[in-house]
Order: sequence, then C-alpha cells, then structure tokens
Amino acid sequence: MADKVDVVVIGAGLAGLAAAYHLADAGIETIVVERGDFPGSKNVTGGRLYLNPVRPYFPADFWNDAPFERTVVKEKLSIMAEHASTTVEFFDDKFRNPPHSVTILRAKFDQWLADKVSEKGAFTIPKNQVEDLIYDGTKVIGVKTNDSELLCDCVVVADGVLSFIAERAKLREKREPHHYALGVKEIIELPEKTIQDRFGVSAGEGAAQLFFGTITHGMVGGGFLYTNRESLSLGMVVGIEALSNHEPKIEAPELIEILKARPEIAPLIEGGNSIEYSAHVIPEGGINALPKLIGDGILLAGDAAGLGLNMGITVRGMDFALASGAMAARAIKEAKTKNDFTAVSLAAYEQSLRDSFAIKDLQTFRSMLDTLDNPRMFGKYPEAITSIFGKMFWISDQPKEKLSSTALREAMKAFGNLDAVKDAWGMMKV
Ligand SMILES: Cc1cc2nc3c(=O)[nH]c(=O)nc-3n(C[C@H](O)[C@H](O)[C@H](O)COP(=O)(O)OP(=O)(O)OC[C@H]3O[C@@H](n4cnc5c(N)ncnc54)[C@H](O)[C@@H]3O)c2cc1C
Repeated sequence: MADKVDVVVIGAGLAGLAAAYHLADAGIETIVVERGDFPGSKNVTGGRLYLNPVRPYFPADFWNDAPFERTVVKEKLSIMAEHASTTVEFFDDKFRNPPHSVTILRAKFDQWLADKVSEKGAFTIPKNQVEDLIYDGTKVIGVKTNDSELLCDCVVVADGVLSFIAERAKLREKREPHHYALGVKEIIELPEKTIQDRFGVSAGEGAAQLFFGTITHGMVGGGFLYTNRESLSLGMVVGIEALSNHEPKIEAPELIEILKARPEIAPLIEGGNSIEYSAHVIPEGGINALPKLIGDGILLAGDAAGLGLNMGITVRGMDFALASGAMAARAIKEAKTKNDFTAVSLAAYEQSLRDSFAIKDLQTFRSMLDTLDNPRMFGKYPEAITSIFGKMFWISDQPKEKLSSTALREAMKAFGNLDAVKDAWGMMKV
C-alpha cells in the first residue's frame, strides 16, 4: 500500500516551498518531493527578488531572518555599442526601507525557506524524482517517484520551467524553442568592501546593472550584474531560438566571456574568483503560452505554469513563483473545506492569479518580446544612441557646433526613417 497525505508538492523551488509553507501552516499534511540533493541545489536565478509583489502573500515578519545578500538601491541600465556605451543610473531613497528588491543566492535562500516549511510541519524528501502521476480515471491521486508511490488529494506541480509533469498531465503542450530563453550565470567572489567601493554603495546595500545592445550579437536578450554581499552575479540571457539560429555559432559559455571582456565590466570583476557557473532555461512564452493551470486534483505553479516575465529591463520569475505557490495553497485550503479537489473546485486558484499582478503583468507586457526581437534593437539603435553621446562629448581640433545641432542631425540619421517609425510604434505597445 502506498502512503497517503493530503498534498504532494513536486519541486522544492520557490513555488513549491511557498505552497508547502502555507499548506502546512493551515494544518494540511504536505510532502515536498525534490530531485536535488537539497532544496536550492539545482536552482538557478540571476538573483534579484522584487519584494512588493510577494509581501501580501506572507506574514509581515516572514522576511526578518531571510538570507538577503544586499538591498538594491542603485539601478543602472547600460546601452552597449561595439566600442562605446551609455549608462543611465537611477537611485531612489525609497528603494531602501522597506527594501524594494534584494539580491539572493538560491542555495542559501531555498534552504532557509525549506527550514521555514519544515518548522510548519511539512516534510521535504530530497534526492527523489517524481516520474509520473497516479490517476483514478481523470483525477490525479498521487505521484510515482523513482523509488516509491505517494497518494494524495491534490498535487502541486512546481517542478520548474521544463515541467515534464505538466506535459504528462496534458495541462500543457510540448513547448517550442521560442517559448524559452537560455540564461548563463557566473558567481564571482570579491571582498565585501571591494564591492562597496566599486559600486559606490554602503554595507548591506547594492546595485543592479542591466546591459543590452551589441553584446548579444543581434539576438534578443541582455546581460545582468547583481551585487551580493561577497560576490557578484554576472550573466546573460538570450532567446533559445535566436541562439540556435545564430550564424556564426556562439556557445553559451562564450556569452559570459563577451561580457567579462568589456572594458566597462572588466574593472568591476577584476581580481574576483569565479566560484560557480550555471546555465538554465527561462520561460518566455508569456500570456500566449499560458498552460491550463488546473485539472482534477492538480495545479501548476511558478515556472511550471509559465509564470515569468522578461521585461527587457528586468527578469522576474521568483516573485511570480512565491506568489503563485501561496495562491495555490489558498485554493487547496478552500477545496479541503469542501473535500472537493476537482478542477471546478480548484478554479479559485486561476481566478486569484488573474486578479493579481501575475497574469495582469503577463497581459500588459504580452508584446514585449515580439517587439524586442528585432536585430535593430541590438545593433543599429544602441550604436546610434552611443554615437549621439559620443559626438556631443568629443572635442576635436575643429570648432565645435551647437550641441542641439549635433543631437538633431545624429538622431535624424539614425531614427528618421520608416523602420525606426515602425519600431517606435511597436514600442508604444509595451
Ligand atoms: C539566468 C537566470 C536569471 C534569472 N534572473 C531572475 C531574477 O533576477 N529575478 C527573478 O525574479 N527571476 C529570475 N529568473 C527566473 C527565476 O529564477 C525562476 O522564475 C524561478 O526560479 C522559478 O521558481 P520555481 O520554483 O517555479 O522553479 P525552480 O526554482 O526551477 O524549482 C523547481 C524545482 O523542482 C525540482 N524538480 C524538477 N523536476 C522534478 C521532479 N520530476 N521531481 C522532483 N523535483 C523536481 C527542481 O530540482 C527544483 O528544485 C532567472 C532565471 C535564470 C535561469
């Protein structure tokens, strides 16, 4: 006889752990099955968590002992041309208290969250991979792992972006390459004080820098650099379809090397010790690739549900994962009061996602990637913008013309054509 619990959560990532925390808190018997050696061991993120979207889903004191690396107080956006760059820097006191966004390292953060889950009484079973679901007719009533079977009233599928389980449950179709991006990331160790000096921030505070332009060789995507307490997270994200079609071929590790070699970035990482390299897939299908979120006895949360957003200036998925896990738990709690775990009963989950930032933001930014997926955005325009600044700053041996004349002439040269008008029109949609 297989063991029976109320809920099985597949995956001890942020979505799964958030669901388990709230389920256990409500006295619902919950087991989390995780294929990695420990929660967080297999998980990759750029590393910036936006807190405002998730605060409403957790108790006010929940974050007090969270292993945040630094509070991001400085935002930088760098437009990269082949031999020049323009950086916009933004600081706001209100990023500070309460923190607007923080940097995290998943190995530490996921373990902290898993400890919170076990304090509430849920079990996490590591080194166990869910291989299939168990059905009674069309209703999911359990999971098969590599070494056992577990029966339950409801399964939360939070197994991440590739979610073979969501495919097996026929809640989502097999995805195409254009539904995904590839992220590669390196963690570079540096002394705490060096990071503060290089980024001009105080102890406990940090910077987030995003890069777009020619560094992606015309491919849709960009780079990121986040400050942790004693390390930097440096990475690049590009569309998988763009990467596989790119000529000449570029291997994923080269993408980071392109960033590291830039004279704007090299001094920031100089002397650093590279302690971790990872590569991971990111969902980019957005609202148009949203799967069925519920079935009889089953719900999808986090990346498994395609809940992630690349807005060009930010990559978000962790806030979506935490919030969707909490919403899934709330719907299961409600279903348990009726002892009815059918899709109809669990429909409150989908409704709460639709009423929240999660699906509303996907809806608002539904055209973002189609608009950005345009080689001019990663070549011609960054070159034009940096060239305008370059000409304004340049002093030659000839008399200098008025700055307004330089700016107008250069802007007309780059943007006074039909393509640019069409692209500007496209940008109005995002
Ligand atoms: C390079 C990169 C940069 C990113 N940058 C950011 C950022 O700065 N900010 C942000 O908010 N988001 C960012 N994201 C996205 C974010 O990391 C994800 O959206 C988030 O991790 C999703 O959480 P999740 O819990 O849904 O999935 P995951 O964190 O992937 O967790 C899934 C878990 O399920 C486990 N699992 C999988 N299959 C099985 C199975 N069959 N049985 C048992 N366990 C299983 C896995 O081991 C894992 O622990 C980035 C992603 C990448 C790759």
